[in-house]
Amino acid sequence: MSFIGNKNALKGGSIIAAATAFLMTGCIEQRNEAACTDFDQMVNGDWLQSVQRAAGSDSPDAYADLPLRNQQALLTALEAAARAPLANENSDLGKLVRLFASQAQPAPTTITALSEELLQVDAIAQVQDVPMMMAKLLRVGTVLPIALQAKQVDFFESDDLDEPDTKPIQLELILGRGMLFGNTVEARRSHVARMLELTGVAPDQAVIHAEAVERMEKQLSESVPVTSQNLVAFDMVAFKQHLGFSLDTQVDVADTALEAKLSRMLSDFSVQEWQSFLKWRLAKSFSAYLPETFSVEEKRWLANWRPQFLAQNNQLRSSFPLDSRLRFLAELMPDALDRFYLEKVVGTAQLEGLGTLAQEIRTEMRARFETRTWISEAGREATLRWLDSMSILLARPEAWIDYSSLTVALDDTLGNIKRAKQLNFDGLVRSASTLPRLGARGGFGWSSYGPGYIQGRNAVVADIAMLLTQPEINFESNKAFTYGVLGTLLAHEMTHAFDTSGAQTLLPGMPSPPPLGFSGADIAYFKSMEDRQYRHYAEYVKKSLGVDVLANRITGEDVADLTGLEVTAQLVNKKWPEANAMEQFFKGYAFSHRDGRNQTEIREMAVEVPAHAISKYRVNGMLGNLPAFAVKYGCVAGDAMVRAEKDRITLW
Ligand SMILES: [Zn+2]
Repeated sequence: MSFIGNKNALKGGSIIAAATAFLMTGCIEQRNEAACTDFDQMVNGDWLQSVQRAAGSDSPDAYADLPLRNQQALLTALEAAARAPLANENSDLGKLVRLFASQAQPAPTTITALSEELLQVDAIAQVQDVPMMMAKLLRVGTVLPIALQAKQVDFFESDDLDEPDTKPIQLELILGRGMLFGNTVEARRSHVARMLELTGVAPDQAVIHAEAVERMEKQLSESVPVTSQNLVAFDMVAFKQHLGFSLDTQVDVADTALEAKLSRMLSDFSVQEWQSFLKWRLAKSFSAYLPETFSVEEKRWLANWRPQFLAQNNQLRSSFPLDSRLRFLAELMPDALDRFYLEKVVGTAQLEGLGTLAQEIRTEMRARFETRTWISEAGREATLRWLDSMSILLARPEAWIDYSSLTVALDDTLGNIKRAKQLNFDGLVRSASTLPRLGARGGFGWSSYGPGYIQGRNAVVADIAMLLTQPEINFESNKAFTYGVLGTLLAHEMTHAFDTSGAQTLLPGMPSPPPLGFSGADIAYFKSMEDRQYRHYAEYVKKSLGVDVLANRITGEDVADLTGLEVTAQLVNKKWPEANAMEQFFKGYAFSHRDGRNQTEIREMAVEVPAHAISKYRVNGMLGNLPAFAVKYGCVAGDAMVRAEKDRITLW
């Protein structure tokens, strides 16, 4: 091996040495020209040819059809369960199924379901009692001028690129959403009056109070400073207590003017006007579940009628028509819906297979870390400790919401809504100052995915429930292929714990890697590999697309791809010695990176996306680094699918 001039390649072991080692267990196959030239084209070429895109639609990937297919499967399973004994069970899933079936109940003929709230509103004796009443109504899901929300950093939308999920949840009171403030058109006043009448307010009173409601909303929408004398203070302390907060819980009031506005409203309007205001909000919030007269009035008002309380909280940026029955369940019993999908649609065989895969990857990764020759002993020990303490959440959150205290009755849709809303609201209150629950999908685990590594908590959130229904992914009938898809994905995320030298130039705001206890020489070696990887990719993109990639482009994603492949390939090779296992594994990996982008979009991605390599490189560029690939397809130095020694990466 003296012909290898680069000492780094020698230090880590060359592709020839690795291939020789591989020969001990496998055997070199006959050369496959297509695989050695462009493996991505060989596996995904026909698919790419068949891709049909409507103008302006997103480019499809391997999983583009899954959300819609999962939605249909989920609805079918729910409909079947509604006719099965499960619908009568008192388990969380039994309650979910009853909640699903309750949506088909005809509208009630009376407003009994709101009678408790309406009676309490009627019993208000002085405006000082309004905050307490608002707290009560808020907890059951009424849309009010004041609302409670969790303040969380959105990693993808915020300018603040701090790592999500590593800071305690902060709660704040904000101006309520979903209200039509200051809309003073005559038609709206008559809408308010009609709704008030339907709740039992006398017609002449309803007309007068509708005008008051309009002025109250106008006050809320105004940005002028509140200067009224003799203000009745909106008792924020009492309000928070009635929301369920203890005195020492920190709850921000996001908008200080809001408190002043509410005080002004307390001061300027009578108890009777406040009663009408609150009745208006109750009727508006729950009109879809009240006697038909309410929804008829609501429909008259809104050309595009939909349940008011759902419209305010649309969590999913959905690219397909989201079924309103599922949206309803996701809003009220999100975790039960995610659990139902896993248990009734995905099934235990796939979940058990996934659990086994994760354990095997961890073991294999440990074995590789133990045998790397470039790292110091101190660096190795620290790395192994970090790996051993990593938690991995597989297609589920770290804890499920407990619905055991929830009552769901088949014939009481509005009662179900109020009780579920209260349970969720109280959960939100309890979450103050705690860390976010990792892996919670809000009832939409079946329709979107985004696995990731949370460095601040050393946790892999394998948010991949959606993928488990992909026909090609099957731990029994298509095992090596499945490892090619999901094993490389899991190992990729786990590698993010070890993906940089710590000395790399990171994008501003990116979380800095944990000190892994690397020695100076470890860092120098790692850095040389990062530089080499960056250069290889930059040259590839320049040659194939004619564009330059960002100079400070981080290579962490590339390192994660490479390591994910190496670790899983080694695992599959040991686990299934049969001849076609490695081939299926490589095909699975290539399948997982199919990408329907056109050339212009690919070029844009290469220039603009700061972290991931373009998909074709993720297939061809990464597999070219893998000795096992060259062995499997009989590829040799000089082939497009074999990296030159000077470009070869040897890390984990
Ligand atoms: Zn990644």
